[in-house]
Amino acid sequence: MKAIRVHEFGAPEVMKLEEVPDLQPGAGQVLVRVRAVGVNPVETYIRSGWYPRKPALPYTPGNDCAGVIEAVGEGVTRWQVGDRVYTSWCLTGAYAEQTLCHESQVHRLPDNVTFAQGAAVGVPYATAWRGLFQRGRAVPGETVLVHGASGGVGIAAVQIARAAGLVVIGTGGTERGRELVKREGAHHVLDHHAPDYLEQLMALTDGRGVDVILEMLSNVNLAKDLTVLAPRGRVVVIGCRGTVEINPRDAMSRDADILGMSLFNGTPAELAAVHAALVAGLENGTLRPVVGQEMPLADAPRAHVAVMTPGAYGKIVLIP
Ligand code: NAP
Repeated sequence: MKAIRVHEFGAPEVMKLEEVPDLQPGAGQVLVRVRAVGVNPVETYIRSGWYPRKPALPYTPGNDCAGVIEAVGEGVTRWQVGDRVYTSWCLTGAYAEQTLCHESQVHRLPDNVTFAQGAAVGVPYATAWRGLFQRGRAVPGETVLVHGASGGVGIAAVQIARAAGLVVIGTGGTERGRELVKREGAHHVLDHHAPDYLEQLMALTDGRGVDVILEMLSNVNLAKDLTVLAPRGRVVVIGCRGTVEINPRDAMSRDADILGMSLFNGTPAELAAVHAALVAGLENGTLRPVVGQEMPLADAPRAHVAVMTPGAYGKIVLIP
């Protein structure tokens, strides 16, 4: 089978499409025939070599894909050959024609969801759900700011929050991105590059501020976030690409919480709950992953450049 292989950390071009041996599932594992692969920013950090979690070289990048179960290992009873699934993790990397997963790392992909959409679910939707409910403790009727709503996690968060009965304010950096955020369920949409967008935000909440912020770029926004939180508000730090200076008094005066989150830290029970909710949402149509761009698997280097380029529009998906 073909897979993207990384033999040294570095620029996107270190990713090469190579012929590698076919995979066989071990006990408790399933083999997935990959039909579409989701590209996440974290895969660019890992590939470049600066991310704290480094895989042993050489490796195949990626966690998110959707496809069909091709074989099951000894002791696997919950999956059968032919089942449509998406992955929340995989053991051998998702940028490939085949991937091996533990049986708990695949989830049913309802028939109404395409493989490309399924590849957009794993990390982005689980992050949005965990950020909103398990970390942010959002409650129906509250107001959430999805700060960076036009990308993979943001669109997921908008759909999840809207379906759960929150008032949703989303931001995007381009007109096209903001139209998408509005279309996918935000009650209000703002431009995070506009000089007065936080004043607009305060006006939308009658000066009270928002209860929850899902923050995609905390190194740029965290200090500002603390000034637009309602009393007892919560900021969930999802994305971070550097350091930031804050005024702790802004948190103190509101009894506000700054909550870090990494999907890696979810317990098996938390992640099982998240994926049960996501499968239900996919099935009933409240969750509708948006695929902005599809590229052949060999174009992984181009996909890594695109995912780090401003002007997000849903997900970038690779097709093996
Ligand atoms: P993505 O698809 O590339 O989207 C990035 C988002 O950030 C877009 O909506 C983009 O908007 C927005 N953005 C750009 N400049 C911004 C600004 N100044 N203020 C607010 N938002 C801004 O990436 P993603 O998959 O959604 O992931 C978002 C971030 O979360 C990434 O940093 C990723 O590494 C991180 N992440 C963390 C976890 C975790 O477990 N903590 C899990 C998944 C992702 P425009 O392009 O429209 O300007």
